[in-house]
Amino acid sequence: MTHKPGMRPAIDPTMWNVDFDKSPFLVIWETTQACELACRHCRASAIKGPIPGELTTSEGLRLIDQVAEMGTPLLVFSGGDPATRPDLFELIQHGKKRKLRVATIPAATPRLTERLIQELKETGLDQVAFSLDFPRAELHDGFRGEPGAFERTIQAVGWAHKHGIPPQINTCIWGESAAHLAEMAALVERLGVVFWEVFFLVPTGRGTDIAGLTPQTCEDTFEILMAAQAKEKYILKVTEAPHYRRYLAQRHEREKGRVHHAAPEGASVPLARRGVNAGNGFMFISHVGEIFPSGFLPVSAGNARHDDVARVYRETPLFRALRDPAQLKGRCGRCPFQAMCGGSRSRAYALTGDYLETDPWCLYEPAAEAADHQR
Ligand code: SF4
Repeated sequence: MTHKPGMRPAIDPTMWNVDFDKSPFLVIWETTQACELACRHCRASAIKGPIPGELTTSEGLRLIDQVAEMGTPLLVFSGGDPATRPDLFELIQHGKKRKLRVATIPAATPRLTERLIQELKETGLDQVAFSLDFPRAELHDGFRGEPGAFERTIQAVGWAHKHGIPPQINTCIWGESAAHLAEMAALVERLGVVFWEVFFLVPTGRGTDIAGLTPQTCEDTFEILMAAQAKEKYILKVTEAPHYRRYLAQRHEREKGRVHHAAPEGASVPLARRGVNAGNGFMFISHVGEIFPSGFLPVSAGNARHDDVARVYRETPLFRALRDPAQLKGRCGRCPFQAMCGGSRSRAYALTGDYLETDPWCLYEPAAEAADHQR
C-alpha cells in the first residue's frame, strides 16, 4: 500500500489519554550506540560498532513486555543506528504483538535501502523517522559527516511513501542551522511527511562542541515554527523547547488584544499538543539498559536489566521530582506558564548541573511581567 504524501496516519485518539503519573506516553529505547555516521551533535557520541554491553535480544523482548504492561502506547527503537541490530525486525514484531505503536529511526548510511524500508513495513512498523537538519546537501552532509546522506534521506522518504509507512523528519536546531529553518520548513512540506519533529539542541555528548542558541534566537525560531504549523500540512512536534507552548499562548492572547500575565486556562490545548517532558510522559532506556528521564538527561534511576521500569517511572525520587512543578527553581519555579511548559529539564541539567533549575534558553522573566502588570 502506498502512503500518499501529506496523508495523516490513522492514530487512535485514545492513545493520548495517558496518565503521565502512571505511564510515559513515549518510551525511546536506544537499541545500540553503533553508527557509521559521525554527526556533529550526537547525544550518544555514537561510534562504529560493535558496542559491548548492549541489551540482548531476550532482554529487549522483556523490556518491550514491560513497556506494554506499563500502559505506554508508543515505543521508538532509536540508536546509534538501529538498522545495525540484526534482531530489529524481531523486536518490532514483538512490539506489534504487544499492541504498541512502533517507530524507528534508521541512519542515512548504505544500510538504508528500499529493501530495508519494505521489510520494516512487512514487519509491521507504524512509522519511520529520518534525520534532516539542513535544506541543502552540502550543509546537511557536512553536519552528518557523510557525503550523500542528504540524497539518501530524500530517497528514503520516497520509499516510505511507496511502501506505506508514514514518514517523519527529525531536524536539530542549533547555532548554525537556525538561520535555515524557514527553508527547511518549506522542504519538509514538499516532502509530504506526516510528522516534523524539531529538536532544540541540548549540549550533551558531541553536542557540547557546537554552537547553541540564544533565548532570543529561540523566540525567532518559534515564530517560523508557528507559521509552518498554521499551514497544517503535518503534525509539528517540538522537542526540548517546551517554552514554544508559552510562546504560542502569549501570541494567542496578544492576537485577541490582550497582553497576557498568566497562562490562560487550557490555552495550550488548541495550539499545541499536550507536551511531554523529561520524566513526565517520557522515558529513555540506554543501550546498556540505564533508565533515564530523557536521552538528553543522562541521570540513571535504575536499569531495565534488573529493575521494573514502571516502578522506576512511577516511584523513584528523580522521576517524581520531574513531574512536580512545585520543585522547579529559578524563573521556571515562579513562572505562570510552568504547567504548560516547565522548561527543558535536560537543558537545565546540561547547562547548570541542576535539572530543576531555569531553562537558560528561555527569555521569559516572570518577575518583570508581574511588575509590568502593576503599572
Ligand atoms: S521561565 Fe521556565 S516555565 Fe516559564 S516559560 Fe520559560 S522555560 Fe517555561
